[in-house]
Amino acid sequence: MTSNQQLFDAARAVIPGGVDSPVRAFGSVGGAPAFIDHALAGTVTDAEGHELVDLVGSWGPALLGHTDPDVVDAVVAAARKGLSFGAPTEAETRLAEAVRRRVPVAERLRFVSTGTEATMTAIRLSRGATGRDLVIKFAGCYHGHSDGLLSAAGSGVATGGLPGSAGVPAAIAGQTIVLPYNDVAALEECFAARGSEIAAVITEPAPANMGIVPPAPGFNAAIRRVTAEYGALMIADEVLSGFRVGPAGMWGLEALDGWVDAGATGPLATPAFGEGAVTPTWPRTGLAEGTGWRERAAWIPDLVTFGKVIGGGMPLAALGGRADVMELLAPVGPVYQAGTLSGNPLATAAGIVTLEKADDAVYAAVARRAQQVGDLVSEALTAEGVAHRVQRSGSLFSVMLGEGAAEHGVRDYEEAKAQDVFRFGPFFHAFLEAGVALPPSIFEAWFLSAAHTDEQIERIAAAAPKAAKAAAAATPQA
Ligand SMILES: *Cc1c(COP(=O)(O)O)cnc(C)c1O
Repeated sequence: MTSNQQLFDAARAVIPGGVDSPVRAFGSVGGAPAFIDHALAGTVTDAEGHELVDLVGSWGPALLGHTDPDVVDAVVAAARKGLSFGAPTEAETRLAEAVRRRVPVAERLRFVSTGTEATMTAIRLSRGATGRDLVIKFAGCYHGHSDGLLSAAGSGVATGGLPGSAGVPAAIAGQTIVLPYNDVAALEECFAARGSEIAAVITEPAPANMGIVPPAPGFNAAIRRVTAEYGALMIADEVLSGFRVGPAGMWGLEALDGWVDAGATGPLATPAFGEGAVTPTWPRTGLAEGTGWRERAAWIPDLVTFGKVIGGGMPLAALGGRADVMELLAPVGPVYQAGTLSGNPLATAAGIVTLEKADDAVYAAVARRAQQVGDLVSEALTAEGVAHRVQRSGSLFSVMLGEGAAEHGVRDYEEAKAQDVFRFGPFFHAFLEAGVALPPSIFEAWFLSAAHTDEQIERIAAAAPKAAKAAAAATPQA
């Protein structure tokens, strides 16, 4: 048998770092990554034959669990009819309709292959629509790897401890203004100074790429208010959260079900957000015009981006939004965007079945599993005296380590970076040795699926005390 280490060595001889996306390389936790042979439901099995309880879920897409038989069948059936045509198919329309039923904000959609393309196009479209160049993003939010969006980005950029990326021209980086997350005053000041030059504010409605950092009450609504006041667009990047935390994503969770007081400030706690979050319920799987969603919504973004779950594990992503803005895209309007494999029939088939199956029961199951795992890990850390806080946004959570996190929570990127990051590597490896694969970075969300079983939750519970001990014993690297 070839070991993970041998596979990693061979990979590094032909692929930079041995991986096609940096966080996979285990850089921040050390060691050779598990090379995956196959996956089933809540588990992945590596090249050495270890079956691991998987809390990565392909970074989100595996909502139903891996290799869901209906999704696989749909992909196989689509493959038999042709892998790619470079011409429209009816399936794209059906998927767009399914998305719009859940997130009616997306009056029109355009399918692309990656979340990076979706956000990149949303930015171009905002500039085309407003005739302005500047874009605001928040530190610690990740929106893919396009030039203008890498400044103070979360995810792998945070994991690698990088300020941004080499190779981004200063002139392009200069078009992005980075503001601290959850800071309404900074946003208002920025618009007061340069409002007439700002095309858009892009945000993760509940950031999940610096760990889970819930929006302060009213923060998303404040972004909406300020952008509207100055004629800029609001882009809700739901590439990670869309269709994962509920049928209408984080927007549905917060704007429709959460607090509605745009001016409120206060602790990070509502029924669906923060440390004391309870399992939400899902009263609705479809929202049509006339159901009053527009009146009920605390905030409505102009554009929204999707990825991850929308393709059920296949390369698929989308941007959607107001019809008048979306219709500025070519071939109707002057904003160009294209893609040889966009709306690929295999990916579209996987997306349709995934959304069909992602009903209220699925969301309730994922939320319950997330609640269980967060709670049991928290108990184990408490037993070992490790200062921590489990932060949640819907069924997404991450475990924040350190006194600051325990005391006041992690509210922005500065606080995320100030955690006891050194405790995470030993914690991660203790779990891995016990057959549980966490995301290999403290700055990533933990992903449960509807296919995780009681037995798998018990394996996590059995592993947690040792992992907590390892975290407690960790010392800062010199
Ligand atoms: C993953 C992610 C992206 C990038 O999507 P890719 O498919 O990896 O290009 C963009 N935005 C958010 C919020 C993400 O989590």
